[in-house]
Amino acid sequence: MYDTIIIGAGPAGMTAALYAARSNLKVALIEGGLPGGQMNNTSDIENYPGYANISGPELAEKMFEPLENLGVEHLYGFVKDIENHDDVKKVITDDEEFETRTVIVATGSKHRLLGVPGEEELNSRGVSYCAVCDGAFFRDQDLLVVGGGDSAVEEAIFLTQFAKSVTIVHRRDELRAQRVLQDRAFANDKINFIWDSVVKEIKGENRVESVVIENVKTNQVTEHAFGGVFIYVGLDPVSDFTKDLQIQDESGWIVTDDHMKTSVAGVFAVGDVRQKDLRQVTTAVGDGAIAGQEAYKYITEHS
Ligand SMILES: Cc1cc2nc3c(=O)[nH]c(=O)nc-3n(C[C@H](O)[C@H](O)[C@H](O)COP(=O)(O)OP(=O)(O)OC[C@H]3O[C@@H](n4cnc5c(N)ncnc54)[C@H](O)[C@@H]3O)c2cc1C
Repeated sequence: MYDTIIIGAGPAGMTAALYAARSNLKVALIEGGLPGGQMNNTSDIENYPGYANISGPELAEKMFEPLENLGVEHLYGFVKDIENHDDVKKVITDDEEFETRTVIVATGSKHRLLGVPGEEELNSRGVSYCAVCDGAFFRDQDLLVVGGGDSAVEEAIFLTQFAKSVTIVHRRDELRAQRVLQDRAFANDKINFIWDSVVKEIKGENRVESVVIENVKTNQVTEHAFGGVFIYVGLDPVSDFTKDLQIQDESGWIVTDDHMKTSVAGVFAVGDVRQKDLRQVTTAVGDGAIAGQEAYKYITEHS
């Protein structure tokens, strides 16, 4: 039996593992993909204290490295259910079941779909949600980025190193992104803006060829040629497998207190999957540290 099972090896889960293992707990970290989470899809991180600029995958590697020496067991698998039997919890993956005294859910969030015709059909054929993964395939092309938050603007800037031009389409008349990113985007000759507008359809035979855009103020509909569309219109929690525990709000974000405790004793949640205002690497590692420590306290108090 484990003392704590952490589900998801993004920055939140890896930090929870660090703190729990340093408190001498028997820890398993279950991850369905590559350790690092969303950091693996981020070109440059410029707001993680201690680094003026570090690539997401490099920061992920630095966070993962010490865990093995601390005795954290890294298990591969996608968790599909958690059963609560009070002092014992069962964590169930596709082909295994593990018993543990506490669980820390750190499964993050996933990109939201636009939900327009052509998006699904042309996914991976010009429609992408990851500039770092796919940007280099779009050399010298005209690209569209959908969204106005940090991710949209950051990735639009990243794409300019490959693309002929990058157009940001946003449904409002101003960006939501941090000022420093906005300034950089406005100063970049390759970046254009289409304001007050939404994507209605993505068109193409086998690959993206054009995008139909509607101005929400004038209702004018126009069609523009683009070779690729990068979509950053928000996030949804990865929390379906916790449904039976009833620890989510109406949108699926997991509700915790300041100690990362959910309403189920011994079950904690950290990072982007949690109901909170600021979803960043710094806030994810802060949550992880608290939960690792709280798991230790819970176990000491219940021994
Ligand atoms: C394009 C982009 C750019 C960004 N830029 C920055 C930036 O510059 N600075 C910054 O601070 N933040 C940035 N962020 C946000 C930051 O990456 C996230 O806030 C942070 O990664 C959240 O960490 P997390 O550990 O909560 O979740 P994630 O990083 O999402 O990790 C969750 C992990 O859980 C795993 N998982 C999910 N479901 C299961 C399951 N059922 N079973 C097992 N494993 C599972 C996933 O595979 C993943 O590895 C960016 C995000 C994006 C998308």
